[in-house]
Amino acid sequence: MIKGVHNDLIVSDVVIVGAGPAGCSAALALKGSGKKVLLVDKSFFPRSKTCGDSVPAHALLGLENLVPGIYDDFLSTVESVSFRQSALVFPNGQKLFFSWPLPGYVAERRAFDGFLLEKVLGSTDTQVITGLKVVDYKRSDQLIKLATSNIGGTSGPDILASVVIAADGAPSLAARKLAGVMPDPEAYGQAVRCYFDGVKGMDEGIELVFYHPHFFPGYFWIFPMPGGRVNAGFGMPEVARRKLKISLSELFKQFREQHPEVRKMLEQAVQAGDLRGGMVPFAMKRQIWSGPGFMLTGDAASMVDPVSGDGIMQAVRSGVLAGIAASTGNIAMYDQQIEKYLWNCMKSQRRTIRLMSGFPQLIRIAAWLGRFDWLRKRFQRWIW
Ligand SMILES: Cc1cc2nc3c(=O)[nH]c(=O)nc-3n(C[C@H](O)[C@H](O)[C@H](O)COP(=O)(O)OP(=O)(O)OC[C@H]3O[C@@H](n4cnc5c(N)ncnc54)[C@H](O)[C@@H]3O)c2cc1C
Repeated sequence: MIKGVHNDLIVSDVVIVGAGPAGCSAALALKGSGKKVLLVDKSFFPRSKTCGDSVPAHALLGLENLVPGIYDDFLSTVESVSFRQSALVFPNGQKLFFSWPLPGYVAERRAFDGFLLEKVLGSTDTQVITGLKVVDYKRSDQLIKLATSNIGGTSGPDILASVVIAADGAPSLAARKLAGVMPDPEAYGQAVRCYFDGVKGMDEGIELVFYHPHFFPGYFWIFPMPGGRVNAGFGMPEVARRKLKISLSELFKQFREQHPEVRKMLEQAVQAGDLRGGMVPFAMKRQIWSGPGFMLTGDAASMVDPVSGDGIMQAVRSGVLAGIAASTGNIAMYDQQIEKYLWNCMKSQRRTIRLMSGFPQLIRIAAWLGRFDWLRKRFQRWIW
């Protein structure tokens, strides 16, 4: 891995911008393609990423074909806590439990993303440069020219490539410059999270999601982490937040005070580190995913599940699809694949969030109906 560079020009067949789950997955999918691949990231790794830190098994299984044994490697090298159930918790203390066929893992993103980048370095010929920020994209004949800057602001080398895989997260400069896609407040949310020690009432193997009618369709989460720590956060669609005219950090504080169950659990907890926030680009509106010489992946392609707020699995899947399209040179197939394997799979999530946002009182009805086992299972099958 190279940290920063000083040459004037780098020429590559494929350049991947961003070494998060989407970018690393694209690099893994390009393994053995014969293409010269460059992966650049503005951060030095391992780096932290603001997240609920909940990694679904599907994300790792999606890479098992490319890196056999990656799932077991993750389990043995990355510190994590697994869960098989999620509980929706209402202000009256009622809990609805959902069991999952495969486990999820709560692991700090610093560790998970660092693990993925190590796999790229260990199993591919990808040239990796960290500490290099892409600041502009321009077309130049059949190629795309990327301007860069080093940490500290000095200008970096230009990069020339036939294919750009944009995996630069949200908000994405690549999406804006290459596809003309701007963040749409109707289609994204915001979320904040921080870590706490000494939380009361955590049950092993269960992640907790709290609903409160005043804050709906936002929700609060408490996810168990290694060492008895928890990741606690609050997220909400941006349109709903704008109506309330309150910042997300204030909503986090208010939810914590007003939801009796959250209040009880965090009463004597000690906050570890700052409250941090980020944008959550939901798969709510069909957008441009690719064009001549480029593909958008993960958060840059707005692929987050609008109900759960999860985006890691979609980042991995879209990264793999983009890597395959780049290795075959058939970028035109990328949109169809995204539509088939990601966009269409989130149809019911889009319907659910629209319905719930229009009628927040439905959450009370859902809580009541959820007491019936068969109804709860049907609901779970419909959404996930
Ligand atoms: C508070 C919060 C909680 C969340 N909780 C969960 C959760 O529990 N589970 C889940 O599945 N999802 C969660 N998500 C969503 C999840 O974090 C994202 O969907 C996921 O990280 C997307 O992966 P990515 O690879 O597309 O982008 P990222 O993980 O954001 O990676 C983008 C990379 O690009 C680099 N980069 C950015 N700009 C440039 C540039 N100009 N030049 C070079 N490099 C650049 C960045 O340094 C970064 O390394 C959460 C999001 C937030 C904000």
